[in-house]
Amino acid sequence: MKNKLIKIGTIFFGLLVFFGLWGISVNASAVNNYIASHKINHVSITKKVWGGFPHSKYRHGKGKPEGVVVHETGNTSSTIFDEIAYMKKNYRNAFVHSFVDDEHIINIANTDYLCWGVGYPGNARFLQFEQVEMHTKKNFAEEVENAAYYTAYLLKEYQLKPNDACYDGKGTVWSHGSVAKYLGGSDHTDPVGYYKKCGKKYFHQSYTMKQFYKLVVTNYHNL
Ligand SMILES: [Zn+2]
Repeated sequence: MKNKLIKIGTIFFGLLVFFGLWGISVNASAVNNYIASHKINHVSITKKVWGGFPHSKYRHGKGKPEGVVVHETGNTSSTIFDEIAYMKKNYRNAFVHSFVDDEHIINIANTDYLCWGVGYPGNARFLQFEQVEMHTKKNFAEEVENAAYYTAYLLKEYQLKPNDACYDGKGTVWSHGSVAKYLGGSDHTDPVGYYKKCGKKYFHQSYTMKQFYKLVVTNYHNL
């Protein structure tokens, strides 16, 4: 009887370990693992603030944003410099605070004032940056690390705590898609499609906002 109980116990323990490991492997992000195992480090922030953008206060005042919105340009062939030049020319329609690619984090608009990237009411609440589309596995991983670092940096800079807003519409880390879903202002879904596409193409697994959020938290704790 005792032996039988020990045997059942052993099997039960074995199953726990098996499903525990299986759960970890299912939840693990191939992109985040690649960044960690290849010791990919973020670049430093370049400030090239242009005086031409309008200065309007956030709803809680100057220097009081409530979170960060992550965008992706949706342009398959532009460079970061093309995007910045285009935005300065067309800022009356839309502009964001910063741009990120594999080699740059470029801040172009004063983050103490709001920008126009997600419409009403999100513009009056959030810091916003765009990611430019990358075309290799390594460049995508480098860009994602830069984006996660920059998100963490902005949170810390404005005394905001990391909190994933993408699944419940409450928090400090947003995709443009989650702003559109929970607050309105547009019908955009970025950067979800871009993350999914590059994740599948280069890592055989979709990259998700949930996985990106984990990378933000890792960066936040390293600041
Ligand atoms: Zn967007």
